[in-house]
Amino acid sequence: MTAKYIATQGLNINKEIFLCAICNINSGTCLEDCKFCSQSVRYKADIDRYKQKDMDLILQEAKSARDAGALGFCLVTADKGLKDKTLKFVCDVAKVVSKAVPELRLIACNGTASVEQLLTLKEAGIKAYNHNLETSESFYPQICTTHPWSQRYETCQNVNKSGLVLITGGIFGLGETHEDRVSMLESLASLKPTSVPINFYHHNEALELKPNSLSVDEALSLVKLTRESIPDAKRIMVAGGRELMFAKRQDEIFENGANAIVVGNYLTTSGREASKDLDMLKSLQLEVAKKIH
Ligand code: SF4
Repeated sequence: MTAKYIATQGLNINKEIFLCAICNINSGTCLEDCKFCSQSVRYKADIDRYKQKDMDLILQEAKSARDAGALGFCLVTADKGLKDKTLKFVCDVAKVVSKAVPELRLIACNGTASVEQLLTLKEAGIKAYNHNLETSESFYPQICTTHPWSQRYETCQNVNKSGLVLITGGIFGLGETHEDRVSMLESLASLKPTSVPINFYHHNEALELKPNSLSVDEALSLVKLTRESIPDAKRIMVAGGRELMFAKRQDEIFENGANAIVVGNYLTTSGREASKDLDMLKSLQLEVAKKIH
């Protein structure tokens, strides 16, 4: 065991915490019907909707992310997959950001994608691709009817084929059973992801799903279960819903196996100020990762 690790609850916990920021470069224009997603046009949630974020604003967000200590910067578009126009926009953004803010590792999160499209992103400077399985294969038809879970799994396989780093995870608190959660984690493990973002459903009143009924203890045990189920993943990231789900007990995610968090705002909801996360890590004597292993 190196000095970078501490042992707690039987888990080897990395003392270096990886920070990632997300940038919603196209928002709220998706025609799919994922029931947890306020970016679907079907639910008329009260969110910002735009086709392409202004490049200057993207650059400003990238610089703020770097200044807050983020190493990852994820370019997210709201759509089922990569249409030609979206692909070109993401590539244009990747080229501009990688030149202006080379300290950031660029991640793309643009829905289902072919190997060819992923290789185009790679050429433009994208290093990793995030596509979540969201939930188990058997529960998926209850939260989405417009595309199958198999397309999600296939995209993750395409990411591995393309040589990009695979980031894939899911969302808890949609009404799934414990068996669904275990099944999703087994599917994720089979894809051998480098990073696993887990989200906790953040209810929006425009959505028909019931609010997330997980207790904090249950959610913490899911962080631990994720770490134990996918031991080879370099990062278990607690992403969307962190502040709402864990509130004053956010610091406990790390002792349960998380070693990455999203800083700043989420796709359609506000996160807390990055300085509060940095203060939390300092108080726990955890270090902000300075490079990607
Ligand atoms: S495909 Fe993605 S952006 Fe579209 S509704 Fe589903 S989760 Fe939201």
